[in-house]
Amino acid sequence: MTVPIAKLCFWGVRGSTPTVDPATWRYGGNTPCLELIAPDGMQFILDCGTGLRMLGSRWTAPSGGPTPETHIFVTHYHWDHIQGIPFFSPLYAEANEFHFYSFRSKFLGRDSLKQVFETQMALPYFPVDISAMSAKRKFKEVDGGESFTIGENKITARWLNHPQGCLGFRFETPAGIVVYATDNEPGEANLDESLRELASGADIFINDAQFTPEQLATARKGWGHSSWQEGVKVSRHAGAKTLVLFHHDPDSTDRMVDSILRQAREEFDSVFAASEGMVITLGAPGDRVQAHMPGTRTTLRREAQFHAKVSGVTEGGKEFEEETIVRDLSLQGALISLKHLPRLQSELQVTMEAPGADGMQSMRLRGYVVRIDAGTEKGHSAVGVVFTD
Ligand SMILES: [Zn+2]
Ligand SMILES: [Zn+2]
Repeated sequence: MTVPIAKLCFWGVRGSTPTVDPATWRYGGNTPCLELIAPDGMQFILDCGTGLRMLGSRWTAPSGGPTPETHIFVTHYHWDHIQGIPFFSPLYAEANEFHFYSFRSKFLGRDSLKQVFETQMALPYFPVDISAMSAKRKFKEVDGGESFTIGENKITARWLNHPQGCLGFRFETPAGIVVYATDNEPGEANLDESLRELASGADIFINDAQFTPEQLATARKGWGHSSWQEGVKVSRHAGAKTLVLFHHDPDSTDRMVDSILRQAREEFDSVFAASEGMVITLGAPGDRVQAHMPGTRTTLRREAQFHAKVSGVTEGGKEFEEETIVRDLSLQGALISLKHLPRLQSELQVTMEAPGADGMQSMRLRGYVVRIDAGTEKGHSAVGVVFTD
């Protein structure tokens, strides 16, 4: 018997508006879009931010169910959650079938999401009109509190506290539970309780972490967003196992998200900061939740051989220091063979011996762990780092 495994891919993690600033490159600048492949092969897309375009360009039709259809859940109609729709190429192919789920907005009335499609592509906002989209599209209205099943998966929707409304979704798959709760401001008792119920026992709880706790208490109060600290609170209360900080502020640089993640990890054991290209698998034997980062961001490698001393923190939270040889160096980072298993998204101090004009010189760099693979040497891991400064 095969073990049921679900796969969650992050195609867009930035809140409010896309960023192309190099200082936001590591976590990524595309707005919200996630893809969840359930063990039965069902494909779910959560939100249609600009990350949706990338998903479309790497498109493979889903394999689950009697007909290959994709189920797309739109949490609400703010720009950052819909602006990828006209740029999603699979919508222009007749063979594809999409089922859309979203709520009836009081500002739009019946067929709210269908209207959003038509309005986005109305003249003069887009070069072609909606008739160019030849894929089959079905729209279903979902209300907070509703539950239904798709394949082997149970989906529950709950209202979140956000201007003009937003839905949070819970996906119960045979491999585990994924809860997606972006765009939510804490402080409204009923909705706070509802979120804890939605997140109850989640294996992966993706939560709005746009602001710092200080911003949330002062200048950004009432903007409809949350903080890492609130995410930790809900995770503890709801018994969620892994917290994923999501919807990063467009003004948050990578260093700021690093600091937010560091603070959250001091308070809660299993936390990741959502990162474009990150893939989390759920239900694999051994580690129930495994995160991977993309290889594409650590390319441009050069063969090299530098003696290096590496110190950092292991997966289990212990400090380590070991000596190794860096064999693979790029403009942005390196692939380092280590006996210790550092934590993904943690910092390593890498001191390398490099030949300089006056003999060997030592170079101290700060590396940020973006990927961990099985190493070629026995008992070693190949650890990919990006040098941050
Ligand atoms: Zn948003
Ligand atoms: Zn919003």
